[in-house]
Amino acid sequence: MKKNSIYMLILLLLLVNVGCSADRNNIKDQASVIKIGYLPITHAAPLFVQKQQLEQSHPEYNIELIKFGTWPDLMDALNTGRIDGASVLIQLAMKAMEKGIDLSAVALGHEDGNVLIADREIETIQEMKDQSIAIPHIYSTQHLLVAELLRLEDMEYDDIDIVELPPAEMPVALSEGRISGYVVAEPFGALGVKLGIGDVLTSSEELWPNSYCCVLVLRDDFITSNMELSETFVTDYVKAGVRANEKDDRLYNALLEYVKVEESTLDLSLEWITFDDLYMEKEAYNDIYHQVLELNLMQTPPTYDEFVNRALMDRTKIR
Ligand code: ZN
Repeated sequence: MKKNSIYMLILLLLLVNVGCSADRNNIKDQASVIKIGYLPITHAAPLFVQKQQLEQSHPEYNIELIKFGTWPDLMDALNTGRIDGASVLIQLAMKAMEKGIDLSAVALGHEDGNVLIADREIETIQEMKDQSIAIPHIYSTQHLLVAELLRLEDMEYDDIDIVELPPAEMPVALSEGRISGYVVAEPFGALGVKLGIGDVLTSSEELWPNSYCCVLVLRDDFITSNMELSETFVTDYVKAGVRANEKDDRLYNALLEYVKVEESTLDLSLEWITFDDLYMEKEAYNDIYHQVLELNLMQTPPTYDEFVNRALMDRTKIR
């Protein structure tokens, strides 16, 4: 009788366990899907780490990462609500808000991480006078960095021809002599160096320490309908950023899956970037705010309080 009771108890425990895992699966099946847009760049690393390594531990959500080839395509999807959020150039998000799209910045993408690559014969920015330098978009920190460099070197904005090019085209354009240099999201800077096409002339860290470049934004309608979910999502994103900053196998695995670039290129690329503090400071945002006004890129850019969702941004301080 006693033996039978033990069998019954084991059977019961097994059933309970099966029930629990079935419940867990059901919950995951019913998890909300958060659609996030990205470009395959090193700058979006926290998102890749979160998707690959942290999403599974949360029954509440699944991330659907949607890849775009160009920033305008990504912004079109974001502005029309085909995606819930994106890792995007901060100035593009500011411009969308200026046009009336209801978005909010909820965390940074990274800090630093931009280099100016120049033809190997060129040693100073003065030597690039009357030549072309490529940026990914006029609404980008890369554009602001070029303008800042010209200002620091007492050169006029028009002394250099600033042209837009898709990031992947830049190393090729430099090798063919169509441009004399470029500034763009990684890993394309590191790629130019590794291929022997160009050298680093200067970096964002030298020119403008802690400059903001990419930002994680969510649509306001998504946040309003899913506040708790948004909090969980941002908290995990920040954990992923801390993990990414360790720059160990976990980051490499995520980048090799989503960016598809050689490991030796990533080694160099990752020397220039950090991911462990993704809180957007008001003062640093205001530097960008004033520069976009100065360059006439916007007339009424969003103020810090308009741009940032404070409740979610504050989650980035929780480790
Ligand atoms: Zn960036």
